[in-house]
Amino acid sequence: MSYLADYPLSWNHLLEVLPDGVAFVDEHGVIRYANERLAVLTGYTCDELVGQAVEVLVPSRGRGEHVAHRSEYAREPSAREMGSGLDLTLLCRDGNELAIDVALSPLGLDGKEWVVAMIRDDSVRRAAEQVRTEFERHALAAAEALSESEQRFRLAFENNMAGMVFTDFEDKILVVNDAFCLMVGRTREELLGHDSTPFTYPEDLEMSEEAHRRVTSGEADQVSYAKRYVHKDGRVVVVEVSKSPARDAAGKTLYFVISQRDITEERALTAQLSHQALHDPLTGLANRLFFEDQLSQAHARVDRQGGLNAVLLVDLDDFKGVNDTLGHLVGDKLLVAIARRFEQVTRSSDTLCRFGGDEFLYLAEGLTSTSQAEEVAKRLLGALAEPFSIDGAHLAQHASIGVVVRDATSTDDAEFIQDADVAMYEAKREGKGHHVVFTPAMRKQATSRFALLQELRQALQAGGISMHYQPIVNLITTEVVGFEALMRWQHPDRGWVPPNVFIPLAEMSELILELGAFALREAVSAASSWERAGSRVALPYVTVNLSAHQFHDPGLVSMIEEVLGTSGLPPERLILEITESVTLLDVAETLRVIEHLSRLGIGVALDDFGTGYSSLSYLALLHPRIIKIDQSFVSPPQESARNDTLLETIISLGHKLDMTMLAEGIETPAQLERLRLLRCEFSQGYLFSPAVPADEVAGMLDRVPANWG
Ligand code: C2E
Ligand code: MG
Ligand code: MG
Repeated sequence: MSYLADYPLSWNHLLEVLPDGVAFVDEHGVIRYANERLAVLTGYTCDELVGQAVEVLVPSRGRGEHVAHRSEYAREPSAREMGSGLDLTLLCRDGNELAIDVALSPLGLDGKEWVVAMIRDDSVRRAAEQVRTEFERHALAAAEALSESEQRFRLAFENNMAGMVFTDFEDKILVVNDAFCLMVGRTREELLGHDSTPFTYPEDLEMSEEAHRRVTSGEADQVSYAKRYVHKDGRVVVVEVSKSPARDAAGKTLYFVISQRDITEERALTAQLSHQALHDPLTGLANRLFFEDQLSQAHARVDRQGGLNAVLLVDLDDFKGVNDTLGHLVGDKLLVAIARRFEQVTRSSDTLCRFGGDEFLYLAEGLTSTSQAEEVAKRLLGALAEPFSIDGAHLAQHASIGVVVRDATSTDDAEFIQDADVAMYEAKREGKGHHVVFTPAMRKQATSRFALLQELRQALQAGGISMHYQPIVNLITTEVVGFEALMRWQHPDRGWVPPNVFIPLAEMSELILELGAFALREAVSAASSWERAGSRVALPYVTVNLSAHQFHDPGLVSMIEEVLGTSGLPPERLILEITESVTLLDVAETLRVIEHLSRLGIGVALDDFGTGYSSLSYLALLHPRIIKIDQSFVSPPQESARNDTLLETIISLGHKLDMTMLAEGIETPAQLERLRLLRCEFSQGYLFSPAVPADEVAGMLDRVPANWG
């Protein structure tokens, strides 16, 4: 004080220059003095502050507490310095709040206890402090996180499903996890300090050494590759390797981190899937997708280099019968066996595929002539020459092949396979078991055939198909002993379409089964209505033609039983005409059906005898009740001594085998005379009558026309 006394300073002045706000507060809490700085801090004027309760500067939420503190302080007044850490808040005049720090000094005046409060704007410091604490909190969390990540890393290393290995510059193993030990079937002790050479698949050694060289030299910062290990148990394990250097803060490489994932199964699955996508699961041959891809590549090659390609569509003849009679299991085995035979005759530059069902496709490349393509066809057919032996059954399986040849001038690639199909159909139509080379004219025929087939289908539904009956005559008595039911199609535009046209067409599809069932129902029902005035002669039987397809239909016998049951026709009056072609498929099965039929009392006639194989062994096996000698022997285009001898031989053969002989297509009295001489029992032909509509049959039953003999 004495020191200040030397200067012209008043207290007032001193209080005004202080950087802090100052308030003198009396024993009632009323502000008695406020300096200018406080006025600035609070937004009030000094005059406004003086006389106010100090609580005017305290936010309302803390006022009650402030009063309590104040009276407590008054009981035991003491100095309080700045930095008490009380986080005090000043309420300004405008309602804003300000972070402040307050120092208190008791001031005794005439026995009254006043307080001098120094109020400092603490907002900057507090904000700074907040930033600092935030920062420290983060730093702390980061530090914690660091050790956690270290731990996590250790766990990740140890428990990783992937094989983890750290190696040195020489690729020697420094650290290894359990997964890697399991992967290669070796213990830590066996691995540590060694490189992986002893158990790396020999062919992959060079590649993994090269990869190591690239990371060690710094040429690559990371290398990924697939390699194979040989597990201790001998298994080959495929792994995906990722290798990168681990560096210290200065960037110096310390060691190498290698992570390896076992992709053995994945690889196998991928290979299997891609194989599956392009191969037929049954035969293992390429599938259609693969074939079409090869085909377009082959076309491109021809366009570039010239030459010829050929596609051969191989369709198994009457294969459906195998499935139907022997079951799909046998059918599948037969298909596999056929695929193996075809494979044996497939050149390495060619592609063989299963096109679906009983169809195979063969792509022949690098040909120079059509005849070479035909050679391929013959080779494929030749592969089927020997019968197959499946589950004890001997199966003869033949095929028809359509061949289509393409050179650089061909344009219609899209129809390539379709053209092969058209040619294949032609091959079937010409009698199966051989090949036909496509010509553009066939396409037109195919289109009209297809249209005809559609019309046939409609005709069957709309009643455009009917059965006619041709009398079968006893040559001795000239009595009618039976009728052959022959199918007729009355086409609205074409007139009568002969069965020789539409039956083979229907045989190409399932429609033949419907037509066959129709023929049986019609014929059996017609025959059941035939009556004779006197019962002198037995009622005539009806013969119904069965195609091979129909004969091998598993539903055949039950269908016949049902038809007979409904009509009431005795089974003895039904005779089924079959040709030798039914036996081609499977003799044993054919015999089984025939036996079943004969047990029912139904007879079998062997149609068109002499035109097919006419094998004596088949004849003996099938033992038909009637042999129908083909028209070509009865009324041959030219009469010849040879034909005559043949006819004679056939008839005597039949008699020796105890079969009834029936001559087809007898047209002249001379032929009749000759047949009588040879003691042929029955005959049918235009000499007696062509096939007539059902309603004309009745007229033939009781009357033998005079000209019949
Ligand atoms: P197919 O079973 O050998 O029938 C005999 C064919 O010779 C019949 O021809 C018949 O009309 C004809 N024919 C009869 N007598 C004479 C004659 O004196 N001279 C000449 N030149 N021909 C004569 P169609 O009716 O045209 O039948 C042809 C073939 O169509 C039949 O030959 C048979 O294989 C087949 N077919 C006919 N109807 C059916 C049927 O309902 N189902 C099946 N699957 N095939 C049938
Ligand atoms: Mg017939
Ligand atoms: Mg015939």
